Amino acid sequence: MKQIFRRRAALWPALLFFVALAGCGPARTVDAVVELPEEPKLVALTFDDGPRRATTTRLLDGLAQRGVHATFFLIGSQVEYQQDVVQRMDREGHQIGIHTFDHVELTELNHADFSAQVDTTRALLKQTLGHNDFLLRPPYGLLDESVKQWAGCPIILWSVDPEDWKDRDADRVVQAVVSACRDGSIILMHDIYPESVDAALEIVDQLHAQGYLFCTVDELFAARSLPLEAGQVYSNAYP
Ligand SMILES: [Zn+2]
Repeated sequence: MKQIFRRRAALWPALLFFVALAGCGPARTVDAVVELPEEPKLVALTFDDGPRRATTTRLLDGLAQRGVHATFFLIGSQVEYQQDVVQRMDREGHQIGIHTFDHVELTELNHADFSAQVDTTRALLKQTLGHNDFLLRPPYGLLDESVKQWAGCPIILWSVDPEDWKDRDADRVVQAVVSACRDGSIILMHDIYPESVDAALEIVDQLHAQGYLFCTVDELFAARSLPLEAGQVYSNAYP
């Protein structure tokens, strides 16, 4: 019986449509009701200064549980003895970038020293991962014309910086990021502090609830049809 009732009920809209079409029902305006799906809000979560085995591994676990891909700007001297962590990042769909070998100010260097910091890290990552398409984030965001000329890849800065290293207060960091985040933001955090890992996972949960999708830096710019070019500087993909 239930099934029959449902079938009959399903006939009603069709019936009303034909009545309206025949012009013998009450006058009804049929507006275009087709709604296009809203463009998703995109955001890129980026982490500097790692990897640090304990905190980075816990972050990777949390991101995997949430189906989120992030971008990691790595210190070459940390990569050397944690290649398995870096391989896991790559295998799980995260993007990898260079953050120099020893976390130095790139603007202070001549070409040979720049190369020892950036090209050496690039070679180490290539040897670790088997590909060679790494972004660069200069420590402290410091850059000049030489850095752009020698980078050999796109230079990625950020648009949301909660300064998570300052007080290691997860609640404050969550609040700072969630209130400042907008479609196309690049968030800067550090995966070397336990509180930053706590904050990052809470940020993912809160921004997911607001309809944001998390993607890597490459995916963010590709989704906006913005090409990333070597030696150019990018800090957001705002529409
Ligand atoms: Zn750094």
